[in-house]
Formats: sequence, C-alpha cells, structure tokens
Amino acid sequence: MGAAVESAGGQLRPSPADSILARSILAEVVGIRSVSGSRETIEAASALVRRLRAAGFSEQDAYLTGTSDTIGNVVVRLRGRGLAPPILLMAHLDVVPALREDWSTDPFVMTEKDGWWYGRGTIDNKEGVTTIVTNMIRWKRDKFVPDRDIVAVLTGDEETLSDQAEWFASGAGRRHIGNPQFALNFDAGGGTIYGGREAMLDVQTSEKIYVTYKLTVRNAGGHSSQPRPDNAIYTLANALSRLAAHRFPIEVSDATRLWLERSAAFEPDSIAALMRAVARQPTAAAAAAKLTAITRFNAQLRTTCVATRLAGGHADNALPQLAQATVNCRMLPGTDTAVVIRALRQAVADTAVEVREAQPATVSPPSPLRPGIMTAIGEVGKRFWPSVVVAPVMSSGATDGSYFRRAGVPVYGIGGIFTDPDESRAHGRDERVEIRRFYEGLEFGKAVVERLSKR
Ligand SMILES: [Zn+2]
Repeated sequence: MGAAVESAGGQLRPSPADSILARSILAEVVGIRSVSGSRETIEAASALVRRLRAAGFSEQDAYLTGTSDTIGNVVVRLRGRGLAPPILLMAHLDVVPALREDWSTDPFVMTEKDGWWYGRGTIDNKEGVTTIVTNMIRWKRDKFVPDRDIVAVLTGDEETLSDQAEWFASGAGRRHIGNPQFALNFDAGGGTIYGGREAMLDVQTSEKIYVTYKLTVRNAGGHSSQPRPDNAIYTLANALSRLAAHRFPIEVSDATRLWLERSAAFEPDSIAALMRAVARQPTAAAAAAKLTAITRFNAQLRTTCVATRLAGGHADNALPQLAQATVNCRMLPGTDTAVVIRALRQAVADTAVEVREAQPATVSPPSPLRPGIMTAIGEVGKRFWPSVVVAPVMSSGATDGSYFRRAGVPVYGIGGIFTDPDESRAHGRDERVEIRRFYEGLEFGKAVVERLSKR
C-alpha cells in the first residue's frame, strides 16, 4: 500500500483538491435528471465513465453495460494483485422523481445553503456513487494496487425494478463482476447523531423480504333485495379481522441481539431495559410484548403482514360475487414463504377465502457476521468517530443488496454519512446532505475499502 493511502486513514477531510473533485462529481450527477429507469440514467453513467477514463481507467476497466439500452449502469474495476477473490462495491445512480414546484430549490441543480448541499440524490444515493467514483480516481492516481481486484457496479433502476442488480448478481451480467468474496453497499447502513454526537454506526447485514398476498372470496351473488347469510364481503371482512389479531413469533437473530444490546444505550431507560431483557432472553414474553407494542421494534422483531388494499362488489344493488384484499408482508430474513402462507391460511381460518402469493418474493438470507469484516468496519469507524457504537442492522426496506445475498455474495451496507434521526428526506422534498458529513463518509468509505481489500 502506498504512502499516500496510508496517511489518509483516520482523517475526516480529503485534501482541498480531492474535496473539489468529489464536489464536482456530485454536482455533475445531481444535475442529470436520472429518474429510475429513464434514459437519463445513461447520461449519468456516461458522465461517470468519462471521468474514470480521463483518470486512466481503460475501456476494459470502466464502461457502461446492462440489460437494456434505456438504463445506464457502470462497471469499474481497479486491478489488484489477485491474491484473493475481488470485493464488490455497490451504489445506484437512479433517483425517485422530484418536482421543481414542491422544492425550495431546483432538485436537479446542486445548491449550497448553510453548510448543506441540496438536490435529488444528495443522500440517496448519488453521494454513494460519488464516494465510489472519487475514491476509484484517487486510487488510480496514487497507483494503489490492492491485494485483490476492487470492482464496483452502479445501477440505474434500484428505485423501481432492480432488474439490473438481479442481472449482475445472478444473470448474464455476472461475468462483469466475477466471484466477489463479499460486497460493500454504499446505499445502506450509515450513522445516527444523538444529542449532537456521533452515536451509532449501522452496518446493514440483512433486509426484510417483501412479499404480497391476495385474499379472494367468490360467491354466486344475486339480487340485493334477497340477501343470504353467505356474502363475499362479510366472509372477507371476518377473515381480515382474524388476520388483524394474528402475530408472527418473535425471532432474535445474532444481528438483532447485537443491535438491541448496543443501541439500548441511546434509548430512554424504560425502553433500554426491555431491549436488554429481550436480547438476553427472546422468550421473555412480558418484556417482548411491551417492546413490540412500539411499532419500530415490532417491525424489527417479527415478520409482519398487513392489509393494504380492499376491493369488492360490482353494483350497489347486487350481492357481491367477488371480494379481494391485498396483504403486504415483510418477512424476517431467512423465513420461508411457505411458512408465511400457511400462517396466513391458519389465521384466516376459512377455506372459502383463497390465499395466494400475488408477486413472488426475492428471498435473501442474512449476511453472516464475519468477524474479519465486522471488526474491520468497527475499528475504522472508531478511528473516525471515537464515541461511536457499531452494530449490525436489518433494514425494513429493500435494496439492490438482496439480489447479491440471494446469489451467495454476502453484502454489508457501509454508508458513512451521519444524520439526525429526524432527518429523513430521501425520496422526499428538499433532499440534502451536510457537506462536512459527506466528506467524512467519503474518507470513511476509502479507509474501509482499503482495509478490507487486504488479503
Ligand atoms: Zn437508495
């Protein structure tokens, strides 16, 4: 490892020249309206590839590819000594739409205000794209030769279909990335500030799994002037009432136990005591019941299913021939959909109600808490932010990472930007990133990758 790389470790700010480089890359990509799946994702991908080529990456090592000529993705490879399998870096260059009239600034012009940069994608996930691309350019310039290849994919449809991630992970696109030992996802994880201090650094090691079911009741129907006891709407309504009362069992994985123990310090005493009790003994029913009465803990500790849509009947004066409900489930990682559908049928407890999967789940396992990886991330994190507690976390949403986990590549979400817990503007209006936090994340990402690229 070269001297320039060594000396960068633990510093919170890049050099002035590298700060300007990172800012100009972020401003350029924020300025491109790369709404998920749109042609502008190709424009954004092309802009990044142009920069990588100008920095010395060859046509074989930095290029556009993908399943469609309307979605842009970037692959970039920093060649190493081949002493170990490659590591994969991930981020996405697409964004959710944003309307000028909803925002205080133009969402597609990066605007600086009071120490923040505003613009669509500044926190989800063009800051991650910029971290990867800037660091690739710095490594190339500094002639950094890692022990193993560092390969990055930047996808153009994460916010919608994630077809590109699936293609890279388990389709024909796999040849672009080879067989990475693990992946680092810059679209997950991240830090939380409590009381003005860097408190928690989350390493995302698993995601809940999204799966949707349809509950359907059919009936012969008839004239509404001649009602009968059998009625599709009543049958469905009763089934939904029983479903509303159903609770899936509490499950505490190794990652969840660590998360409960370590994040308890940042909760009020009464909640912290419950968290520690459940971490010690998940079967402690009284503590678990109290803790899961709080929505966010309930979502962490069990699979959930909830009715989200309802439809039925075809005329005001006819008995309904059809009643249908949509039930959206978020399964704990490692759960089998067969178990969930069986539980739903048992909860519904009426064979007149058909329960079927509306959309197949992308089942993905949790990534193992490999000591080498978790310890390295923790140590780098503490070097940057000495007060920080590092813990594995399961996110309740889904990212591109699930497709790689499913394909056998463990994924660790290592976003390095600290935010206030009330600051959640991703996908919303006036999305922004605090400038000094952005630079910290850039340096943290560089230090973690350098450390983990060692054999
Ligand atoms: Zn994202």
